[in-house]
Amino acid sequence: AIEVRNLAKSFANVTVLQDINLEVAQGEVACLIGPSGSGKSTLLRCIALLEEHTQGTINIEGQALGFFENAKGVRERLPASSIREVRSQIGMVFQQFNLWPHMTALGNVSEALKTVDGMKKAEAEERAMIQLKKVGLEHRAGHYPSQLSGGQQQRVAIARALARQPKIMLFDEATSALDPELTGEVLNVMRSLAEEGMTMVVVTHEIGFAASVANQINFLDHGKLLFKGPPAEVFQKPRHPRLEQFLDTYL
Ligand code: ATP
Ligand code: MG
Repeated sequence: AIEVRNLAKSFANVTVLQDINLEVAQGEVACLIGPSGSGKSTLLRCIALLEEHTQGTINIEGQALGFFENAKGVRERLPASSIREVRSQIGMVFQQFNLWPHMTALGNVSEALKTVDGMKKAEAEERAMIQLKKVGLEHRAGHYPSQLSGGQQQRVAIARALARQPKIMLFDEATSALDPELTGEVLNVMRSLAEEGMTMVVVTHEIGFAASVANQINFLDHGKLLFKGPPAEVFQKPRHPRLEQFLDTYL
């Protein structure tokens, strides 16, 4: 589960997120939509601890992330060891697949299991194969990224994130760099992950996916969560004028 309370984030003196409250229960899928520059990636990056938030708290599985407020309401930084521990529960997939070009699909998925988690090669590769199977790519295990389609590369990136057995998966426009005919295979992997009960936060412009898979839609506009609710509520007409404008402009 994820609990974001009164989160704010500034870069230098520019506030890009404010008053963000987000609750994602175990097994829920939260979609994050909103115009370019509204702060979607920044929010995901704060949850993944790739950015330090400026105010508020983030709890992952009941553990404070990065910072917490002590009994006196003073902000304290968590020790590095517990940051690492909380972080290991989070998997993230980006728009750019960021695969290592000199490693096969199997190498990409098994690498962190060996170097970070200290697994033996055989065990790491066995675990990696299970994940490649899950994303339908066991027959491509020996292929290098340059020998894979964009959709396949992104599925390898998903397998890589899953291999470390995260409790939470974050997706930042995972299909935006793909040709339209390849987005479906990636969305299907995400859909089955959701059906298996993975807790997910998904930034996407795929409104059809959001409407059919998400438990909650969060609409971010100028750094604020303007509203949230189940898809049936958020997408029903008449829509909130800012959402209507967003859907007209960006889709
Ligand atoms: P897009 O849909 O284009 O991906 P987004 O909703 O993901 O947009 P963010 O990338 O989160 O938006 O950016 C939100 C705001 O924060 C923007 O105004 C951006 O310029 C600013 N910003 C993001 N990262 C940084 C940074 N490292 N330093 C300074 N400003 C930043
Ligand atoms: Mg973004």
